[in-house]
Amino acid sequence: MRHLPPVILRKTSLVDYPGRVCAVIFLPGCNLRCPWCQNRELVLAGDSAKDSTEGGDFIPPVEAMALIQKRKTVLGGVVISGGEPTIHPALGALVGEIHSLGLAVKLDTNGMNPSRLKELWADRASRPDYIALDLKLAPGRYRELLSGPRSFDPAAALAESAALLRDSGVEHEFRSLALPDAYFGAEDIKALAPLAGGSPWNVRPFIPGNCLEPAWNSLPAAGEKETARLAEMARRKARP
Ligand code: SF4
Repeated sequence: MRHLPPVILRKTSLVDYPGRVCAVIFLPGCNLRCPWCQNRELVLAGDSAKDSTEGGDFIPPVEAMALIQKRKTVLGGVVISGGEPTIHPALGALVGEIHSLGLAVKLDTNGMNPSRLKELWADRASRPDYIALDLKLAPGRYRELLSGPRSFDPAAALAESAALLRDSGVEHEFRSLALPDAYFGAEDIKALAPLAGGSPWNVRPFIPGNCLEPAWNSLPAAGEKETARLAEMARRKARP
């Protein structure tokens, strides 16, 4: 906890943790750069040499935990999201601290850091109770999302994380976004299907607004029909 940067806290959410009223902790920084990302400030906060998490909606993690502790009787769990939470070495300590309040933990991840997932798994206190892993593009296209010089193989990382999840016994889901201009389409679903295996795989529509790449804000939201078509493909491919 001492080593975590300032975070953003959503005190209550009814939609981020299936079946539970939850709080959401957003951690800054990310190891990908998805142009459609809606968490622009969080992702860019992790880039800045200066501490750009000072002020604004960012608060110290101890303050966030104190607020969660006060509300623990009305909460069923806490979601740790981002940015990408697994880039932070102190993630396990945060999960453990939330567990010590008697609350369940859901982790949202892009799957680019399987070693951190293994670390979390290694101890019951730091093991999340639910994980949502994004399947963003066909694995062969993930290099389009890297933020700088290649320091890892994103397709290999994704495959390893997906396998960890499938074999973990931890409740989980895979998630994809229906993107405009068929940027994410049937070929991506086919290529990703082996990673999802028989696990739940949900497809939601992209909604423009605060995109990391501003040009994406002028693209149309994914249509209902197209989203439903991709969701049905994901459902069938995930459960052949
Ligand atoms: S969508 Fe997720 S993985 Fe992509 S840049 Fe935003 S926070 Fe990172």
